[in-house]
Amino acid sequence: MQVPLLDLNSQYAAIRDEIRPVIDEVCDSQHMILGPKVQAFEEHMAAYCDVPVACGVSSGSDALLMVLMAEGIGAGDEVITTPYTFFATAGAIWRVGAKAVFVDIDPGTYNIDPALVEAKITSRTKAIIPVHLYGQMADMDPIGEIAARHGLVVIEDAAQAIGAEYKGHRAGSLGDYGCLSFYPTKNLGGFGDAGMVVSKHADRAERLAMFRNHGMFPNYYHAYVGGNFRLDAIQGAVLDVKLRHLDDWVAARQANAADYERLFAASPVAGLVGLPLVADYTTSHVRNQFIIRLPAGRRQAVWDGLKEAGVGCNVYYPVPLHLQECFASLGYREGDFPVSEAAAKETLALPIYPELAAEQRQYVVDSIVRLLANKA
Ligand SMILES: *Cc1c(COP(=O)(O)O)cnc(C)c1O
Repeated sequence: MQVPLLDLNSQYAAIRDEIRPVIDEVCDSQHMILGPKVQAFEEHMAAYCDVPVACGVSSGSDALLMVLMAEGIGAGDEVITTPYTFFATAGAIWRVGAKAVFVDIDPGTYNIDPALVEAKITSRTKAIIPVHLYGQMADMDPIGEIAARHGLVVIEDAAQAIGAEYKGHRAGSLGDYGCLSFYPTKNLGGFGDAGMVVSKHADRAERLAMFRNHGMFPNYYHAYVGGNFRLDAIQGAVLDVKLRHLDDWVAARQANAADYERLFAASPVAGLVGLPLVADYTTSHVRNQFIIRLPAGRRQAVWDGLKEAGVGCNVYYPVPLHLQECFASLGYREGDFPVSEAAAKETLALPIYPELAAEQRQYVVDSIVRLLANKA
């Protein structure tokens, strides 16, 4: 049996007939950037995220970069975030010339530990970027309280968590901004790179639109330096169609996760395989990834064995950001963030995509049981 980590072809096959006509519409209109398709998608996404503002941009990475630019964060400023995330979170901080200040994660949710944040705040701190990793939101109440106390901007990195909920509130609606990614492997994936900034502040719409287009307003007058962060019309058109299916796809991911949990709990390796923790505050975990935890010394063998058995899996993220070569000048060392470092050594992502079949889930679990029975 073959079980890929992700199967975008089967998703496309199911919606091909809905997608092709809207691509044709864009081609026939030759309105290739922004325009009515992007605007319609922005309106639908704003409603979906329960916010008044949605600004379609070129990628999730650019969403983060653009928000930092629009907030005037740069040289001499510090931004607090987690070292256990995709590179783009800290890359954006670096690119505006600010300093990333890392804070370790909670071992259960893999999200920034709010209890460790306040000790890292200095007179230079301007913002906090909590990341909603793997589809579950960070603990936003304490983060919001700390930010309010210190006058900090809260930028949610919701790239993996479109539609996730914290105490009934959608990702992107609790911070000052939410940054979304429509990279093809995300729960709502475009046909190329695409992203979005959402905001609960209605008065930020114009500023975001200006920064998306080189800080230009009116035409050829620039009060600020922004960038070319514009969203293509084809992406807006495709994503607007796919958005109609998102809740069904998320429900399928959640059903797959529940099935994995049942299968692992009933298996002989129940005590050896750590399952994803759903925090009390989480009212919807959108299951962008299904992450198991294995004894550090056994992960590589299980990973290799699964590959051999035809099961796609991956390690997110093998090197926490404080140990990345490009951030050496920040002065961090191994041992600075033990919870992140342990997660980097012990976690493995299993296939969780919506179309994953029951036999495939069973095969994945059976394969892991077999591999863990082979004592090293
Ligand atoms: C995917 C991702 C990004 C970047 O999104 P792109 O659209 O690929 O630029 C940022 N942060 C996190 C946590 C991500 O998973």
